[in-house]
Amino acid sequence: MNIPFVDLKQQYQSIKNEIDTAIENVLTETAFIGGKYVNKFEKDFETLYGVNHCISCANGTDSLYIIMKMLGIGAGDEVITVANSWISSSETISQTGAKPVFIDIEEEYLSINEKLIEQKITSKTKALIMVHLHGQMCDIETIAQLCKKYQVYLIEDCAQSHLSEYNNIRAGLRGIAASFSFYPGKNLGAYGDAGCIITNDSALAEKCKMYARHGALIKHQHKIEGINSRLDGLQAAVLSAKLPFLIEWTNKRIAAAKHYDEALKNINEIVTPKVRANSKHTFHLYVIRAKQRNELANYLKEKGIETAIHYPTPLPFLEAYNYLNYTELDFPVANKFKNEILSLPIYPEITIEQINYIALTIKSFYSK
Ligand SMILES: *Cc1c(COP(=O)(O)O)cnc(C)c1O
Repeated sequence: MNIPFVDLKQQYQSIKNEIDTAIENVLTETAFIGGKYVNKFEKDFETLYGVNHCISCANGTDSLYIIMKMLGIGAGDEVITVANSWISSSETISQTGAKPVFIDIEEEYLSINEKLIEQKITSKTKALIMVHLHGQMCDIETIAQLCKKYQVYLIEDCAQSHLSEYNNIRAGLRGIAASFSFYPGKNLGAYGDAGCIITNDSALAEKCKMYARHGALIKHQHKIEGINSRLDGLQAAVLSAKLPFLIEWTNKRIAAAKHYDEALKNINEIVTPKVRANSKHTFHLYVIRAKQRNELANYLKEKGIETAIHYPTPLPFLEAYNYLNYTELDFPVANKFKNEILSLPIYPEITIEQINYIALTIKSFYSK
């Protein structure tokens, strides 16, 4: 059996008509930049989330940067984020001129350790970028209270948490604004780069929209200097075609994760992902912790099973952050877990047979 880590081909085959029609419409109408398909996707996403504003942009990195920049974050400021994430969560802080301040993860859910945040808040702290990693929300209640107490902005990085919930509130609705990525492998993926911002703050929405479009809401009327970060019509049409399936796909991911939990439950050498109480984990990733992780990954590969590591190096230990002079002692949990975490294949189309085969192969590795 060959099991890829993600399988975008199957998904395309299952909605080929919808996608092909959507692309053809854009080509026929040459609606490449701006225009009705971009407007439609923004409206569709606003409706899905029940928010007043969705501002589409080129990718889920720009969306983070644009939010911070339009909140006035810049040189001399500090922004707090988590040690275990994709580099977008921190590089966008530096892009504004501010300094990224990292917090270790906790052991249960592998998300930011909310208990360590308060001690890192200083008079320079302007915002917290909270990443809902793997599809599970961090303890946003506690974090939102901290933001209120210290009057700092809460920004949610929802690149991995489309439709995730905590206490029946979706990821992306708790902060001043949230950033989404529609990178092809994300739970809602375009056929290229794409991202968006959602917010209920109309003034912020207008600024973000203007900034992402060269500082002009009306052509040639540049009120400020901006950047070029637009969602193109093709990606917008693909996203709108896929959007009606997102709930179903998410439920299938959750079902696959349940099946994994069951199939893997008696293997002492691994720890399966734990779901927070009152939380809806949407399983962008199914991350286990495993003894002899590298050997296990190699063994799975030999047996046709592709895995991945999210992420092999915690952000503060990347060469890019050498200048911050962190040591392993600063992030002991992230440092320990980096050698144990392993992401198993998960996507809506994965079958029970495939999951059983993966579980059996893991068992056979440990009984060698
Ligand atoms: C994917 C991702 C991003 C950025 O997405 P792009 O669209 O690739 O720029 C940001 N944050 C996290 C946590 C991500 O996983």
